[in-house]
Amino acid sequence: MTSFLLRISILLSMITTWHVTAAQVQKMALGDRIVVMSVPEDKKAGAEWKRILDSRKVHPNDSTAILTKHFSAAEKDWYALIASREAYWELMIDSLAVPFDNLVINKVVILAGLGGVDDAFTFGKETICFDLCVLEANYGDAKSEDNSSRIDRLFAHEMTHLFHKKCLKSADLELRTFRDSILWECIYEGLGTYRSLSKNWLPEGNALPAATSKALATLIPEFIINIESVCNADSLNANQKAGIRRSLSRGAILKKWGAFPVAIWIAVFTNNDAEKLKTVIQWGIDAPILLAIRNTQFNSTQLQNLIQCLKK
Ligand SMILES: [Zn+2]
Repeated sequence: MTSFLLRISILLSMITTWHVTAAQVQKMALGDRIVVMSVPEDKKAGAEWKRILDSRKVHPNDSTAILTKHFSAAEKDWYALIASREAYWELMIDSLAVPFDNLVINKVVILAGLGGVDDAFTFGKETICFDLCVLEANYGDAKSEDNSSRIDRLFAHEMTHLFHKKCLKSADLELRTFRDSILWECIYEGLGTYRSLSKNWLPEGNALPAATSKALATLIPEFIINIESVCNADSLNANQKAGIRRSLSRGAILKKWGAFPVAIWIAVFTNNDAEKLKTVIQWGIDAPILLAIRNTQFNSTQLQNLIQCLKK
């Protein structure tokens, strides 16, 4: 955040001191890292979009139609909103990189298309996808006040995933077991969700909003049961494993047993301190358990089980 504020203050001082025009400032602020592409208007983007949906096992009835289908008026508004944020997102990238030791990602492709099932997702090392149809279905009119900040939070969520994936690769961390992959998913989606939650869910000082406490009252017991199960995964069959994975970070907040509690624990632990966030990332796949331990009653059976799980 410091670097972001610094860049903003430099740009503002340029306007006031040197009489630089707004257009010039925008050009200076724009880097060349982000490329925004619309699937119906760009053949290359269309081919990439199809490849991505195929890889995610999303099979629309007619996959060619989604490449040529023009955006509806509402979808065009979402595309316009995304395209309008390019300069701002260029500025956001550097501050999102801070807890990842200022990792550098030189290129980010933003693809806007239709026909998937998720509102936003990443692909590979450098692509962030927005599904305009799902955005419209989930959040309504792109021009509403809530949606201009929502699209920035969704970008922050997905950009954080790109950094986290790159960080995992450079740390050479291997996810060898079901336990490892679930713990990775918890911290990966927990961190992304921490970046995309609206302030209505986040703590103010030490106090949690009532809705957050209510959600945690349901989700933390579920988190504990699932983590204890995955740490003894030999007893789990394929269906049970799929069930645990399915609801970790998908659906409504009240169903995300992994992503939501971890996101809130990150917010409480870090209190907006980038150094503490760096610590959470350095904990690697132990992070969900270490955060849970900090929020579990001393001397409880759950605490003992979590500590055992950490040793596995
Ligand atoms: Zn995510």
